[in-house]
Amino acid sequence: MAKRPSPFRIKTHRIYTPAEAAEVLKVHRQSVRRWITQHGLTADTSRKPWLIKGSDLKNFLGHRREKRRCKLQLHHCYCLGCKGPREPDGKMADYQQHSPTSGMLTALCPTCGSLMHKVIRRDDLDAIQAKIEVTIQRPSPRLVSRTDAPLNVTFQQEANDHAKTQR
Ligand SMILES: [Zn+2]
Repeated sequence: MAKRPSPFRIKTHRIYTPAEAAEVLKVHRQSVRRWITQHGLTADTSRKPWLIKGSDLKNFLGHRREKRRCKLQLHHCYCLGCKGPREPDGKMADYQQHSPTSGMLTALCPTCGSLMHKVIRRDDLDAIQAKIEVTIQRPSPRLVSRTDAPLNVTFQQEANDHAKTQR
């Protein structure tokens, strides 16, 4: 697959024609035209050749890259409210263990205030705590009984029963 066009090649204060932009970014000229006609890249199309501000092009490519980069940083959550990766508001989050190896990180979106959730591996918790303040929550009985707790409860009961019979 072709390399993604890199916004770093674009000079913010230059004005580009689609042909020049295509040249710098090593993409087809038609791609640049499509960015303008179909994907919302701002350009002056009132005359030929079309003119694109370097800053607009840079922003446009930057956003596309961001969208593609689905992998979030460990301590970031994806906000469904404003649709983007966000660092938890106030760099604070709650963590609730859901299974021996994973749990749920809950935080507020700093942009829109939505509640964000993210399933994380228990092993990643330390790395996340290095970045933000994480409050470890006790498992809520409601959640627990709904998910993997029946197993735990069964084990617990068996253990208890076992203990009893031992006595
Ligand atoms: Zn948000």
